[in-house]
Amino acid sequence: MRYGIFSDVHSNLEALHAVLSVYKKENIDKYLCIGDIVGYASNPLECIKIVRETADFCVAGNHDWAAVNKFSLDFFNPIAKAAVVVNSKQLSKEEEDYLSSLGLTYEDEYLTLVHGTLQEAGFFHYLVSEDEAIKTARLMKTNLCFVGHTHRPEIFEIEKDVVSILRLECLKINKNHRYIINVGSVGQPRDGNWRAAYCIFDSEKREVYIKRIEYDIKTTQKKILKAGLPEFLATRLSFGR
Ligand code: ZN
Repeated sequence: MRYGIFSDVHSNLEALHAVLSVYKKENIDKYLCIGDIVGYASNPLECIKIVRETADFCVAGNHDWAAVNKFSLDFFNPIAKAAVVVNSKQLSKEEEDYLSSLGLTYEDEYLTLVHGTLQEAGFFHYLVSEDEAIKTARLMKTNLCFVGHTHRPEIFEIEKDVVSILRLECLKINKNHRYIINVGSVGQPRDGNWRAAYCIFDSEKREVYIKRIEYDIKTTQKKILKAGLPEFLATRLSFGR
């Protein structure tokens, strides 16, 4: 089985189009989305429509739930909050119902998905420390857990209770280890690379790839400004911050 796993689209339609066009050449059997379809950029409706049509399963991100009042905006900085408010005004009942229906976790025979961490998934903690990686690893029923939320692609490899942090384009899975794989962000990368991030997991070859693809960033930036969203949300995209 070949999985296409992506996260943090954040209403960036041009980045989502670019990622899906490269996935089309990759013989993907199953698409999974790790949440935050909306927020930050200007095309929440279009991105929700595409994710609904494409993804076999999608878990909730903090922005998805905040847009439908299932998660408090008090946890957001003023710029993120402003974008959630602008995005949520565009949603019809149908999109609201879809975002509300997203659950916090997903599990199949190979992998688990959660936006932040498995411990207190509904609080959307950032999985950035070894300590949090171990807490999530203890709750994993599969060897692999795919996460998003930080917008920085990285891999936590856990052997017993020792964590190594890897930044690789291709990971060969050791079946005796556990892995928490942050797939990065389609629509607003924050690792200093502006290109959209996406992940492929091949369960037969036991390989995980985290790749990058250029997209029409100028159009996204123009649309962000035209929508009256904070200017910083346009400029940051150029720097991948
Ligand atoms: Zn996000």
